[in-house]
Order: sequence, then C-alpha cells, then structure tokens
Amino acid sequence: MLFQGIAAAPGLAIAPCLKLRPVATGESPQTISREQALAEFDRVKSAVSQAASQLAAIAAAAKARGDQLRADIVEAQSMMLLDPVLAESVEEKITNQLLAAPHAVREAIEEQAAILAALEDDYLRERAGDVRDIGERLLACLSGESGPDLASLTEAVILVAVEITPSLLASADPQKIAAIVAETGGKTSHSAILAKNMAIPAVLGCQGIMAAVVDGEQVLVDGSNGQVETGLTPAQAESVQLEIQRHIAAQQELTLLADRQTCTLDGVHIELAANIMDPKGAAQAVKVGADGVGLYRTEFLFMDRSFAPTEQEQFAAYRQVLETMAGKPVIIRTMDIGGDKEIPYMNNPPEANPFLGYRAIRICLQQPDLFMTQLRAILRASAFGKARIMYPMIASLEEVQAANKILQQAKQSLRQEGIAFDEAVPVGIMVEIPSAAVMADQLINVVDFFSIGSNDLTQYTLAVDRLNEKVSELYNPFQPGVLRLIRLVAEAAEHSGGAKFAGICGELAADPRATLLLLGLGVTELSVNPPALLPIKKIITSVSLSYAKEVASAALQLPTAAAIESYLAQALPPDLRPL
Ligand code: PEP
Ligand code: MG
Repeated sequence: MLFQGIAAAPGLAIAPCLKLRPVATGESPQTISREQALAEFDRVKSAVSQAASQLAAIAAAAKARGDQLRADIVEAQSMMLLDPVLAESVEEKITNQLLAAPHAVREAIEEQAAILAALEDDYLRERAGDVRDIGERLLACLSGESGPDLASLTEAVILVAVEITPSLLASADPQKIAAIVAETGGKTSHSAILAKNMAIPAVLGCQGIMAAVVDGEQVLVDGSNGQVETGLTPAQAESVQLEIQRHIAAQQELTLLADRQTCTLDGVHIELAANIMDPKGAAQAVKVGADGVGLYRTEFLFMDRSFAPTEQEQFAAYRQVLETMAGKPVIIRTMDIGGDKEIPYMNNPPEANPFLGYRAIRICLQQPDLFMTQLRAILRASAFGKARIMYPMIASLEEVQAANKILQQAKQSLRQEGIAFDEAVPVGIMVEIPSAAVMADQLINVVDFFSIGSNDLTQYTLAVDRLNEKVSELYNPFQPGVLRLIRLVAEAAEHSGGAKFAGICGELAADPRATLLLLGLGVTELSVNPPALLPIKKIITSVSLSYAKEVASAALQLPTAAAIESYLAQALPPDLRPL
C-alpha cells in the first residue's frame, strides 16, 4: 500500500515501524481501602524501579552521544527519584491517608517541589522543576501508559505518529531512528528541519498512516518524494537496500570537496555555513568543511528539560561550539521560542495564532532577565572564538534598538565584573517578517548583517501556516513575491559597500534549485543543514557568479512560482540537477 505525504527530509529507509501513541490521561479513584494499602505501595515501588531504569538508559545514551550536560541532569534526577524522603512521604499518604498511588505520588511530589521553590538559593529553587518532571515520569509508569521508551531502543525503527514534536526528536538517538512519518506537519516545521539536520528521512502530513500500520511491520520511507510504502516484497526491499548503498557511495565521493574553498568559477568567495542546534552539530559542521555556523538555534538548549538553562550552562554550550569551530564565524541566534517550539516550563498560555504571537524576540523583550542571562552567556563565550549575535523575528527598527539596549547592559555588567568578551561582536537580525525585508534599507544602518529566514518569510509573505499540511501546496518560497523581498534585502546589504552582508539560513538555502538564484540575487552567505552542505558546495564551485546574476534577473521577470521553478531547473548545468 502506498501513502503520499509531504517530502520533509530527503533519503530512503527501510525498517520496522514503531507507533507512538498519545499517553491516555484517565483518572483513577482517589482513595483505597486499608487492605489495598500494601499492594498499592508495591505498585509505587515497581513504578520507581521502572522510572529509574528509564533514567539510567537516557543517561547512558546521552553519555554515549557525548552529551555530558544532559547525562548529569538525568543522573541528578535519578538520585531525587530514589531519595528515601520521597518514598516515606508516598508511603505515609498511602498507608495513613489511604490515598490511591497516583494521588499519593502527586501530593508528595508537589510538597517537595513547593519546599524547593520557596528556597533562596537559585540553583536549589530551579530543582523544583526537576522534581515535577520526575513526578510526571513516575505517574506515567504507574499508569502503564508511558509509551515506547526511545532511549532504550535496540534497533533502528521508523517512528510513526500523529505528531512528532521537535523536543521528542531532539532527545532521540539518531542512530536508532531510521525515518519518521507523521500525519501532521509541514516542510519547514521544526521537526522537518531537525530531521534534515540529523540526516533522518521524514514524511509529514501523511494522513491515515497510523491506522494502516502495525508495530514491527517493515515500512519503506522515501523522504525525497514524500512516500511511505507498506507490504513490500523481498525483491523490492532488496532493490531499496541497493539504492541506499548507492546513495552512501555518492555521499562519500562528495567528502572530497570538504577541504576545498567555496569559490565560484569566477573566483568569488561565498561563505557556506551550517545550521546547528547544539555542540554536536558544530562537530558535524567541521566534518563537512563548513566555513562557519550561519545559524545556531539556541532554543534547543531550552527544550526537553524542566527549567531554563543557567548562564553557566549556556556559556559552556556556546563556548564549546565556538571552540569546535576554531576561529570560524558562528552566528548565535538568541532563543526563538514559541510557534512550534513550545517550552512547557515557561508557562506561556496557549494562543490562537502562535506563529503571530508571543514568540522569539518578543518574549525576550518582555522578559529582559531571561534575555540578559542568554546575552551574558553569549558575550562570555565570545572570548573563545568568533561569535556573531543574531536576533530572530525582528519586525521593526525599534525592536533592534530595544534588544541592543539590553545587549549594552549585558556588556556593561560584564565590564564591571572584569569578565572578558569580544567588545566588537557583530550583531545582526533574521529577516523573516516582510516588514523587515521592506525596511531593509533602514535596518541595515543599525545591524552588521542580515540572515534571511526564508521559512518564516515564506509563511508570512504568503499567509500560509508552515505547519499546516492542508495548505502545504501554497507554501512555496519560489513565489515571485518572496523572491522580490529577498532581492530587497540583498540590495540593502550591497549598498553598504561590502562592510555588511546578507545571508540566508532558511531551508531555501539548502535547495539545489535555488543556489544560482540566491547567488545572483546578491546573497553572499548560505547556511544549510550539514548533510546538505557538500551538494550545495558542489554547485557553488561549478558555476560563475556572472551566470548566476543572469539567471536571477531572468527569474525575477517571471510571473509565477511554477515558471520560475522550471526555468531554474533547466538553468542548472545538467550534471548538477537534482534527481
Ligand atoms: C527561518 O524562519 O527561515 C529560520 C531559519 O528560522 P526557524 O526555521 O528556526 O524559524
Ligand atoms: Mg524563523
């Protein structure tokens, strides 16, 4: 049986599937009889040991991935879970107050969290979130509905779900996820972006898939064409395996390009950088020979945990990235929280239009303490490499000024404390809201660089929700309206006479059909997911900028996205065209 969804991350995979079901939240009775008390406490004890082994597996997997920070947090949670004070409190509530296990656990956890939350010490106060996190895990184990445990997978699987959230994917081991398939989601949802970064094929918006597959069934996922197939014959499975081998060999060949300069045939250097979400991404970027990091999505450091990372923790992560990049530029984007990147502990109420709401720089300007912590961490890290700071979701010049004011305060506080940082750290903005693109000629006066966020720029220019599979056909960055805005942004940077630059870090930068166009429009820095870097480098090094300019100006004359796409497809030299 063949299913058609949205091609969200390229690649082929064949593996048994694992369905992720939403956890049911049925309520148990509040109290028990005295005779049930012993058995009820035994239930808690086995839930504790189940939760403890889950945490041990998560910590071990984090360590194996080199993620020591995460391993430390999880190990600290393990100790709290096994704390006898917690066990005694639960036991007292079951045997004396005759509370059913889930209620006893909930109350005991809340009591402990409240004690911690009332303490003076910042570090201990933040542990309240950890205690609540443990409570959630324990309750899930008690209900027997904790769902598949991704941390203890022994073989690679294809995850199938109604929705796959960015935080779930960010916490998974990429070696154990052969592909992902979800009924919802769009091409530039953050799950799709993350899947591309992790080189995991993905098909999203694949309706009906949950009902159609059973756990363990072999499934073929073709992330390049958005297809999912079940009921494969052994011959089909074998030919897919051959195709996968061919793909690996082609990738291998491209690695020869990693050490080459990214220059066009007419000798123009283009900065070809990588998009990353954590220090591991920086190592990946180095491996493919990236000229730097064009987008470090720092919000991922805030995900999959129960409290915001401290200044020290953020500093350690940013410093690690800068040191790994060894003097190459790293654009550290301040947290872009909101939209589809929800952070539960921030307690932001649900919104009718999250992508138009309380998001990114808007949160930072309304919560200056949160912003200050991050800016201080970035500045401190700037002493260890070549950092560039970037604000997301800028709509107006006033927002840049307001953000810069807090940046100045952060710098001043570090000066007073005698802490070193790069006084001349460049500051830029994401251009992803149409008003910013239209105002680029003014905005360029208050920034050092632009980075075009084509994912959001497309969504906001065309008024098409980037997550909504029902309107995904309308989501197209090749629409002439989007391209004219990109030209405005590049033009504004060009007028600075080379002092400032316009780059692009949205997914369009990783689309081979767009490379000639973007270079020709005047974009001089491209930042792409690491697996896409070498194929894009191959194109840049095989064309001339003068040809790219001809192509871009011809493309800008065309009236529709379809006309532009077919023109661009034939403008690319035949051996460079995507298959
Ligand atoms: C963009 O909008 O193009 C972008 C790069 O940012 P994000 O995808 O994280 O919103
Ligand atoms: Mg964006």
